[in-house]
Amino acid sequence: SSLDEHKRDMVRRRAALGNGYRLFYRDPVEIVRGTGSHVFDEQGNDYLDAYNNVVSVGHCHPHVVEAISRQAALLNTHTRYLHETILDYSERLLAKLPEDIDRITYQCTGSEANDLAIRIARNYTGGRGIIVTNEAYHGNTDLVSGFSPSIGMGQELSPDCGLLPTPDTHLHGDEAIGDYMAAKLNEQIALMEARGVKFAGLLVDSIFSSDGIFPGKPGWLKKVADAAHAAGGLYIADEVQPGFCRTGDAFWGFERHGFVPDIVTMGKPMANGIACSATAVRHDILDAFTARIPYFNTFAGNPVAMAAASATLDVMENEDLMGNARRIGAMFVSQLEGLAVEHPCIADIRGAGLYIGVDFDDPATGDPMSVETLELIEHMRRRRVLTSNCGSFGNILKIRTPLVFSAADVDRYMTALADSLDALGL
Ligand code: PMP
Repeated sequence: SSLDEHKRDMVRRRAALGNGYRLFYRDPVEIVRGTGSHVFDEQGNDYLDAYNNVVSVGHCHPHVVEAISRQAALLNTHTRYLHETILDYSERLLAKLPEDIDRITYQCTGSEANDLAIRIARNYTGGRGIIVTNEAYHGNTDLVSGFSPSIGMGQELSPDCGLLPTPDTHLHGDEAIGDYMAAKLNEQIALMEARGVKFAGLLVDSIFSSDGIFPGKPGWLKKVADAAHAAGGLYIADEVQPGFCRTGDAFWGFERHGFVPDIVTMGKPMANGIACSATAVRHDILDAFTARIPYFNTFAGNPVAMAAASATLDVMENEDLMGNARRIGAMFVSQLEGLAVEHPCIADIRGAGLYIGVDFDDPATGDPMSVETLELIEHMRRRRVLTSNCGSFGNILKIRTPLVFSAADVDRYMTALADSLDALGL
């Protein structure tokens, strides 16, 4: 039976891969193909993908597949030879960034991009201290994991790490959050400097995805960026999650807040699934680094990755995916608000474009409903809707769909959510 096959696969998996590879769901999903916002198992059952932000222009988008195939059949080398694709793409991408951010370097993962960004910031400022939020995730290299508290207790934080609280607008309100976070940043910088660590920079994902999704109202983060600059540090915008049209109102997450960072890192959705990430930076900051340290990354910026990234950008523009993220995201939020009327356990709904968090708290006590939220996700999976949770208590339903999500997809998600809430008696 397929259950026996499943069990056999799990044993093979553990034997070959060890215990570190975690699967989603008690009854794991095995998918074999995908298109748009839908993926299919071997029996042809279709699942709605409300989780994957890497394939943000849709699973196996034909324009991207064609560009990858064409370039793979022609040539794939590295950045030691002249090649048109990297130049064309870099010029297009720089045009999307603020004028001051005028150089771009390529990596293969978000972790590597943040790793390089921290090294560049330290080199420029002469400091070592990096400040992140309480539940941040910025990657898995030795350096960056020390600034990724969400990895958990087993991971030692860097002695040069300062922690900001989660910008919890549910707790502090939308209006107060900018001043509150700027004050906390100043406190952390002072603490850091008191122990002899000079502040080098603030590293922030402006949607605060692993903290529990707290985009807040546009503009508030500028106060925090200004405070970082006033203290002589750099602002590193980790755009791995909010970048590339995700928030619906701007191409970049920081752009919603009306300030210019010093370094911008990006990855995940950049090439729709082909390994491709980047660190964009002001030329004076980069020059100070490259004058001392050569940087080469074998696979980064290779012609296939650049062809994929370029085709991904074409689709974002041609299909107005920023507009779609804005429109479908707004529709999603209003339907969730409708559902919340009948379900008082929905304590807060917050989102920007197609990145939405739904906060489940016990209506009687206000306690986070961690167990129930996990059960909810299992129920949604049985209805073949793939979604997840996040936040320090795991009580935030995480809705992060491909950017091609349609109104019909929202309906299907909402039906599965309403049915699952009813089934759980929530
Ligand atoms: N920054 C953020 C905000 C992320 O969410 C992630 C990945 N979840 C990373 C960096 C690391 O990216 P990668 O897994 O590609 O190394």
